[in-house]
Amino acid sequence: MGPFEYRDHELHCEGVALAKIAEEVGTPVYVYSRGEIERAYRAFDAALEGIPHEICYAVKANSTLGVLGVLVQLGAGADIVSIGEMYRWLRAGGDPAHVVFSGVGKTETEMKTALGAGIGAFNVESGEELTVLDRVAQSAGKRARVSIRVNPDVDAETHPYISTGLKTNKFGVTMGEARELFRSAAKMRGIEVVGVDCHIGSQLTKTSPFTDAIARLVELVQQLAKDGVKLRHVDIGGGLGIDYGKGETIPTPAEYGMAVRTALKPLTSLGITLFTEPGRVLVGQAGALVTRVLYRKHNEAKHFTIVDAAMNDLMRPALYGSFHPIDPVENPDRPKITTDVVGPICETGDFFARDRSLPALEPGELVSIGACGAYGSAMASNYNTRPRAPEVLVSGSSFTVIRTRETYEQLVANERLG
Ligand SMILES: *Cc1c(COP(=O)(O)O)cnc(C)c1O
Repeated sequence: MGPFEYRDHELHCEGVALAKIAEEVGTPVYVYSRGEIERAYRAFDAALEGIPHEICYAVKANSTLGVLGVLVQLGAGADIVSIGEMYRWLRAGGDPAHVVFSGVGKTETEMKTALGAGIGAFNVESGEELTVLDRVAQSAGKRARVSIRVNPDVDAETHPYISTGLKTNKFGVTMGEARELFRSAAKMRGIEVVGVDCHIGSQLTKTSPFTDAIARLVELVQQLAKDGVKLRHVDIGGGLGIDYGKGETIPTPAEYGMAVRTALKPLTSLGITLFTEPGRVLVGQAGALVTRVLYRKHNEAKHFTIVDAAMNDLMRPALYGSFHPIDPVENPDRPKITTDVVGPICETGDFFARDRSLPALEPGELVSIGACGAYGSAMASNYNTRPRAPEVLVSGSSFTVIRTRETYEQLVANERLG
């Protein structure tokens, strides 16, 4: 049973009819299942049972306070890529000690703020960044805990835009550079070396890229031990994929856990903690974007279904050509037609599905775009001066609006006539 199921031909999120939410909150609206986030977190945690580990939720996947609050309650740490994300994590009640800070372009101000908050570790991505962090920490009279991000040069076999572990990507330092960088980091007064880190990409549909990457980290950790550099943790990033309903088989968290466990075996005697940074796999299946059909039109070549959500609400199809499941909110058992589901924005990239076989949708009816919990609302924009959609968290038979729809006043609040 998924979190979104038909009951009496009506699509529900847990015990709440999506039609009821749409009626009260309007469309488009993001709807999340609290139970599904909890289930996904517990499954991931259980998969790593027996390995000392920390789960640092990748805040960028969905950074809405109400969603972060669920993860805080579950005991997650956080992987942040900006001080804005740290601000959100702390506002949601998160513990700074369990925050790791990733990203190739941290500014000095961000470093200072994160040090002041007492974050767990900086995932440092270059020699130059390390030098700056050392200086910033020393002038603050602190030592920055550092994990160096290496680029293991493995092919994640995912969309090129979300593949991050290849030599040609901007992330991390090469395996060749890493050993030397660790040795010099160990001598810096403002730096305390605590770990090694990698993140090879997102929406991975196999375990082999993870285990290939871990094998390279293991080798490095063993070399470093010989050099006298002792690490406390190995961070393998995030990236485990989810099922978008396209027919791929995705490793389950349990299969991923087994593969990770085997790959990490050589380090057992070193007393190392495993850090992970999952995003999509924890929240992806928990969300849907509910939208209303406005119009239909067709020409000799195509049939279009125009809905009131657009690429500013959900950018993944436009950005990556992603597939999302689409279902009518009521009466799914109808004759099907082949249609493009598109938004109102004047861009050909403004689509949710192309040449999709769907029950023939009528103007005024509601449609659910599934598997939108990750990289949905977090990537939303105000393009076309469209207020960002509200977000709703369902728990059992009740729901809470965790973010209201933006107002036009809010959209122009920071603007002045020149
Ligand atoms: C995006 C990202 C993640 C999360 O990736 P998912 O595919 O959502 O699990 C983890 N770590 C880093 C450094 C990232 O950039």
